[in-house]
Amino acid sequence: MYFVSTRGNERVTGAQAIVQGLAKDGGLFVPEFFPAVKQDELALMLEMDYPERAAHILHKYLDEYDKEELLSALKKAYAQFEGNDPAPLVKVENGMFMLELFHGPTCAFKDMALTVLPYLLRKGCDICGIKEEILVLVATSGDTGKAALEGFKDAAGVKIMAFYPEDGVSKMQKLQMCTQEGDNVNVVAVKGNFDDCQTAVKRIFHSDRCKEELKEKNVLLSSANSINFGRLAPQIAYYFSAYLDLVSSEQIALGDKVDFTVPTGNFGNILAAYYAKQMGLPVGTLVCASNKNNVLTDFIQSGTYDCKRSFYKTMSPSMDILVSSNLERLIYEISGRDAAITKERMEKLSSSGRYEITAAEAQKIRASFFAGCTSEDDTVECMYEFFTEYGYPMDTHTGVAMNVAQRYEEKRAEEKWEERPMVVVSTASPYKFPQDVLYALTGNDVKDSFKGIKRINLLTAMKVPENLKALRYKPVRFKQTAHADKLYQEVLKFIG
Ligand SMILES: *Cc1c(COP(=O)(O)O)cnc(C)c1O
Repeated sequence: MYFVSTRGNERVTGAQAIVQGLAKDGGLFVPEFFPAVKQDELALMLEMDYPERAAHILHKYLDEYDKEELLSALKKAYAQFEGNDPAPLVKVENGMFMLELFHGPTCAFKDMALTVLPYLLRKGCDICGIKEEILVLVATSGDTGKAALEGFKDAAGVKIMAFYPEDGVSKMQKLQMCTQEGDNVNVVAVKGNFDDCQTAVKRIFHSDRCKEELKEKNVLLSSANSINFGRLAPQIAYYFSAYLDLVSSEQIALGDKVDFTVPTGNFGNILAAYYAKQMGLPVGTLVCASNKNNVLTDFIQSGTYDCKRSFYKTMSPSMDILVSSNLERLIYEISGRDAAITKERMEKLSSSGRYEITAAEAQKIRASFFAGCTSEDDTVECMYEFFTEYGYPMDTHTGVAMNVAQRYEEKRAEEKWEERPMVVVSTASPYKFPQDVLYALTGNDVKDSFKGIKRINLLTAMKVPENLKALRYKPVRFKQTAHADKLYQEVLKFIG
């Protein structure tokens, strides 16, 4: 399988796409075609466990990787998750399910891919014959940074640096990153919001001068952000697995369509669902849920992407994003894989903050996607009511998703759209955002995150993840802050 850039003619293998992260022309790598999974193949996958299903899907894209070795890497990655299923599907009522993706080492769905990426990258280097040291740079709105640091800590031949917006992540997220262990890691707070942070990191990737200077030092840059196909691929697998779980628990028959609601920021998670659909998974509507930063809602409804608007800090910081990088991959698909048009639009976005797609393209997007956004108050209310009714506590990001899913259901009833089971993707443990979750469930404010954890535990009897508990006693190792245009200097300091 080959991968092509969304902005030009670059064509590389899967291993190269993963090692490189971004295409040289600034585009994102996309598979040359979507490998089909037919119904009889789905039937065979029913018998498989999670790592086997994931290996089956990943190998279709990454066929240069040895399938047995891939499987054993996936088994090792998912053995770090609590419980025996890394992506359990929980039924909350008839026709409504939660896909819990937060049982990994850092308690957010990013672990689904970032526990696997180090293997994909190291093996990719072997396949490509790369001998340089790899430097992974991550811009994070909170969860990616920690998951990447944890995934890559002490990995041979790799150094990793995470950049987060100084005031844009939760206390728990910050504590998780700043106490990170490992000899090959570094964490820097950046002045500004996530978009400033992401743009500054992208600038390093796009700078020939930086890349050449690093090459002289025998260092090759790579990315663990969701623009890297190695992040996307493992995410496709859980949509298949959730579907298969619905079939094997006799909630649906093989071939029935299912809807998914995904709390969305950088458009990586929901794009993986779209890829699964393109591969033939019977998916109905993909509901794209946003918080108050509703640039995607407006885009899907109107066909105009306009990020020239106020940026809001919300209780769901991992979705506080105005420039959703992975949307470029969708734009590429719906333009009929037209790299020239995609390039033009992305250039418009960076020069003027907006671009438009045609009415026909917008229609095509709305054939697969429904979009909605929520206010902070509505999210809190939804979390409270859901807990009261079903005894199910959810995190703030999942709260946004649930609120939008419920509004979609109302609209569907009103419009008499086809009724289908709904899977809401649950992206973080409620314990990762304890103060906001406690406030939503009880109306009480606590200053201290660990007190919040204790109270939620008393209230819900849900088990507290060991790694969050342990944070309390870990020394803070990283305290530096940098201006967004000084990140490269920090990189040089780190690699020495
Ligand atoms: C990253 C993240 C999201 C958003 O996912 P995208 O792939 O960026 O759209 C949602 N919820 C949580 C908890 C996250 O960490």
